[in-house]
Amino acid sequence: MTHPAQPKASHFINGEYVEDTAGTPIPVIYAATGEQIATVYAATPAIVEQALSTAKEAQKAWAKMTGTERGRILRRAADIMRERNHELSVLETYDTGKPLQETLVADATSGADALEYFGGLAGSLTGEHIPMGEDWVYTVREALGLCVGIGAWNYPTQIACWKGAPALACGNSMVFKPSETTPLCALKVAEILHEAGAPAGIYNVIQGMGEVGGALVTDPRVDKVSLTGSVPTGKKVYAAAAEGMKHVTMELGGKSPLIIFDDADIDNAVGGAINGNFYSSGQVCSNGTRVFVQKGIKEKFLARLAERTGNAILGDPMDEATSFGPMVTENQMNIVLGYIEKGKEEGARVVCGGNRADMPGYYIQPTVFADVTDDMTIAREEIFGPVMSVLDFDTEEEVIARANDTEFGLSAGVFTNDFSRAHRVIGQLEAGSCFINSYNDAPVEAPFGGVKASGVGRENSKEAIKHFSQVKSVYVRMGDVEAAF
Ligand code: NAD
Repeated sequence: MTHPAQPKASHFINGEYVEDTAGTPIPVIYAATGEQIATVYAATPAIVEQALSTAKEAQKAWAKMTGTERGRILRRAADIMRERNHELSVLETYDTGKPLQETLVADATSGADALEYFGGLAGSLTGEHIPMGEDWVYTVREALGLCVGIGAWNYPTQIACWKGAPALACGNSMVFKPSETTPLCALKVAEILHEAGAPAGIYNVIQGMGEVGGALVTDPRVDKVSLTGSVPTGKKVYAAAAEGMKHVTMELGGKSPLIIFDDADIDNAVGGAINGNFYSSGQVCSNGTRVFVQKGIKEKFLARLAERTGNAILGDPMDEATSFGPMVTENQMNIVLGYIEKGKEEGARVVCGGNRADMPGYYIQPTVFADVTDDMTIAREEIFGPVMSVLDFDTEEEVIARANDTEFGLSAGVFTNDFSRAHRVIGQLEAGSCFINSYNDAPVEAPFGGVKASGVGRENSKEAIKHFSQVKSVYVRMGDVEAAF
């Protein structure tokens, strides 16, 4: 019997599901059991061509519609996503292994927020009138054209919407390639946009590995590439896009600091550290994986953290009581277990967890290391799993320097009850998405993205509009033209 997660076909192009079994088969494995639940096929050159040519063609008429008309379609898609939230959340859980407790509130709902927000903005995207004496300049905010979106595997619905919604609002079309690890959810986003009235070809989804991504990025018809992925992939994609002088948005990895001063509310700080390390089993780019705790409260903090981490419920992700799911793949589990071993070898102290969980599926115990030093591998490299490193510090000046001593710059957080210190510290941290007395909130209204190696450009908020449109300026002369001869 076919599993309910099996899509009708691998790709969604020009308003319909399309199959081409000549492509490399991609098995979809449910991380909670290791069982294969679906198969899709990587896009063949013929599929890539269909996706690009139909999106290129469809964009012209889409850009000519009024923003209000485009926005209405996006907002209708948001409504459909919310109506189907349960079904979409179950699919997200099959795709990623994340517990339903999370997917019910963080995935299709976040995608719907993006569709609603950018749908609402679409009608207000205007230029400026700049008086120049009797002459004037006017500006027009124009679509870029054909955009490519490439996704990571941790938030397949959200990423498909965070890229698609602003792109479409601005009058672009998009070809989206989800991660080969989680190919299912983006197809639903395409289906729902089509059902909401998006013209055929405006949002196509095709499957494949890096090779297919590469074919999309290098195609001369493509005007913009928005990638969510790791720094090494980002470097390759950025370079390939530069070759064609294409616009880019890069949402890449991180090793973000979360700084807890000794005047902080300990329970809130522990809650922030848990949210910033163990949500989605730690598979979140903006996680605050370097938790700097001021020495005076270190042991108290660790004791409370261990106690609360012990309350995590590992289990069947489809059971809404489960609060902690498996790693997305066996490979990712092994990578994370390798880092845990490194942490032990290099002398960090295991406060809790530290092993694979004794159950089927790719579960790792939520793990806290204390006495971590800045040079340890677990404090320097992005692990992308449930591994928290707790480091201690004495002074504000010292912790700022240590927090910034990394190639990454995605996020940063500060817990303190001294508000002038909170703002002073945040002001000096090299990070794009920051938090005070909180961690990992990502509402669509707030810009999201990194500095340094963590990325280029911003997603969400009005900032995203700038990255999916360009400005044309027009000088209008009312009088005669003066010329030298
Ligand atoms: P990855 O870099 O391995 O892959 C990302 C995507 O790029 C996949 O769809 C992959 O097929 C594609 N790809 C790979 N090589 C390519 C190439 N040469 N040309 C074009 N496309 C190519 O990342 P991943 O393992 O899927 O995801 C984990 C990483 O993503 C982590 O580093 C994490 O921090 C990052 N991430 C960042 C954000 C963010 O918003 N900043 C969000 C989620 C994940």
